[in-house]
Amino acid sequence: DLLVVGSANADLVIGVERRPGAGETVLGSDLAVHPGGKGANQAVAAARLGARTALLARVGDDGNGRLLLDSQRAAGVDTAGVLVGGAPTGVALITVDPSGDNSIVVSPGANGKLTPEDVRAADALLRASRVVSAQLEIPLETVVEVVRRLPEGTRFVLNPSPPRELPDEVLAACDPLIVNEHEARIIVGGEPAGSPSPEDWARALLALGPRSVVVTLGAEGALVADAEGSARVPAVKVDAVDTTGAGDAFTAALAWRLGAGSAPAEAAAYAARVGAAAVTRAGAQVSFPTAEEVAAL
Ligand code: ADP
Repeated sequence: DLLVVGSANADLVIGVERRPGAGETVLGSDLAVHPGGKGANQAVAAARLGARTALLARVGDDGNGRLLLDSQRAAGVDTAGVLVGGAPTGVALITVDPSGDNSIVVSPGANGKLTPEDVRAADALLRASRVVSAQLEIPLETVVEVVRRLPEGTRFVLNPSPPRELPDEVLAACDPLIVNEHEARIIVGGEPAGSPSPEDWARALLALGPRSVVVTLGAEGALVADAEGSARVPAVKVDAVDTTGAGDAFTAALAWRLGAGSAPAEAAAYAARVGAAAVTRAGAQVSFPTAEEVAAL
């Protein structure tokens, strides 16, 4: 019922005392390899909650690609739409220093080879979905093709991350456009006057044409807005351990509940519980809760 179209990356993580300068070598911790990428994360998050979920993505014909396919299958994601080959699996090279700050180099690899043609070939997957969720770690023209191919009555949800200005036809399809304040600033291409509130951001975004908008506010929860008005969704109070993947878990849960017919404020309140559960554990995919864990929160 939910189709996620997006990226799949292997996150290669090394702890360092300090980052090397140009021409320098430093020793780090043992390497940790985790399945990641916003598309893969969203699909796992939704499937873990019990959503019938498929992923349209591209990985390389290599060990990292197999790692990603394994993690999708273990979560119960339909991987028939995961294409293999064309370039190495996307990689995020991550160094983490003792203060917890990270530096990341992303090699898009196979994600950059997920083409509009691949979307056309996945027509059956699109037609089987009530809701399609996308992000921007794949070529923009591929997202444009998703919007053009969207069957009548299928909902489109976009988290424009990493953010960039969006064509009108993509904006007009979003229901909702899901952004944090940093992404809002780049999508709007400027700042509303004064010190803008989440409501100001939502108004500025709605003026660009999406049917609805959700602004995520970290520990402050979220704001849901459409032409009729806006509503705050309070965050669930938890001890935050690691916010990695919280946005992906929130978006996946929201897309799934909207596709199942929940009202936007209700779907966002559920998504906020899922996001809160995800920050109570370290890591991205391994931190995503089951429906039982969300209910127990
Ligand atoms: P992003 O990672 O995209 O910036 P956010 O950090 O806003 O996204 O997180 C997405 C959602 O996860 C938030 O709207 C909120 O509901 C939930 N969340 C994130 N951080 C916390 C936190 N520290 N406590 C409770 N909920 C959180």
